[in-house]
Amino acid sequence: MKNQQSNSRRTFLRNLGASASALSLPLLGYADNQFVQNETSGLYSLLTDPNGEPLGQPGRKLGIALVGLGYYSKNLLAPALQETKNCRLAGIVTGTPAKADEWMKKYNIPKENVYDYKTFDRIADNKDVDVIYVVLPNSMHEEFVVRAAQAGKHVICEKPMAITPKACQNMIDACKKANKQLAIGYRLHYEPFTKEVMRLGQEKVFGPIKFVESSDGFRIGDPTQWRMKKAMAGGGPLMDVGIYAVQGARYVTGEEPVSVTAQFSPKTEPEKFKEVEETMFWQFQFPSGAVSNSTTSYTAGVERLYASCEKGWFELSPAFGYGPLKGRTSKGPIEQPVVNHQAMHMDGVCSDLLAGKQLPDHVTGEEGKRDVTLLQAIYRAAETGKKINLRG
Ligand code: NDP
Repeated sequence: MKNQQSNSRRTFLRNLGASASALSLPLLGYADNQFVQNETSGLYSLLTDPNGEPLGQPGRKLGIALVGLGYYSKNLLAPALQETKNCRLAGIVTGTPAKADEWMKKYNIPKENVYDYKTFDRIADNKDVDVIYVVLPNSMHEEFVVRAAQAGKHVICEKPMAITPKACQNMIDACKKANKQLAIGYRLHYEPFTKEVMRLGQEKVFGPIKFVESSDGFRIGDPTQWRMKKAMAGGGPLMDVGIYAVQGARYVTGEEPVSVTAQFSPKTEPEKFKEVEETMFWQFQFPSGAVSNSTTSYTAGVERLYASCEKGWFELSPAFGYGPLKGRTSKGPIEQPVVNHQAMHMDGVCSDLLAGKQLPDHVTGEEGKRDVTLLQAIYRAAETGKKINLRG
């Protein structure tokens, strides 16, 4: 087994065409025997966490029920759940009967593990389901996370956690009251390239960070979708993908911003963007003196995280999508294994749940609330044209 894994690791390095100098940056301290390659996808996953603790618990996989079978559930989460070692697809919650039939057949889900939004609360009696994963439009997260906690299940909730900090707090309180854990869909916190730039920034490998550029945007299609409706989405690209840029600036500096300024761009397609912003910009100031500048957009693509430090620089581009992510530093390329983000995320969360450990703070509801609070402050800064103080 060890040899097989070492071979996989060697193949990974060979595939990357990695040279000795390219490997001068440590691979996050992972050892050769910590990786295994999926034969179908060719992607790597970890057998252990970076501290060498096993991700898999022999013989026990947590049952996950996905709530809302839209794009992300169908194309990313359900396929990833066929690769996971600590969890499996146990149930579904959907408002669309045709999807229920299709998923039951495709994934061999028993009828008693299928719910709609009215029958959802009966999931409390279902021993097959340990974790409920809420993958609904943003404005629906609060209701379904609270109901999931009341059903006595652990919860994973997609980003953005909710559309107001008050809703986030209600979700945190409901999970605390039920003595259940709440994770946010922060898949990048388990992704090796992202973990490496967190390390480079937070350990000041290139000296203190002076400024960060962190941007995420894309050109949106169907203008009638919920993402374009303020009541359901909470806002436009800032709520949807700008949150990754906010996260990026926070996780490379390892600091919380003390103030923010922000601007909306003029709308070039006002008919399309009636309810939400089209493009916007914001600037954070951090306690160390570091500053960040960010763009988010539904009209044009951008995906980059760049940190300029006293003694060099590092960047990821692409930085926030499903991968493969790519990275460079002023000393050479960043080499890391290419993994399935969704499988790593769910396995990582479920590893802690299985072991009865507290989830790390930076993937929990508390972190989700920090981001939603910042998103609201960015909107306030753009609407008022004023610098918003974020201290206290
Ligand atoms: P979709 O619109 O593709 O799917 C949402 C699903 O929610 C629908 O298919 C439907 O499922 C259900 N739903 C219930 N009520 C409504 C309603 N009134 N309007 C629309 N849908 C409804 O969205 P996504 O899958 O792209 O996004 C879902 C969540 O996941 C969002 O919070 C988003 O931000 C997040 N996300 C996270 C990503 C990540 O990388 N972490 C990537 C993509 C999305 P059904 O028919 O089964 O009832």
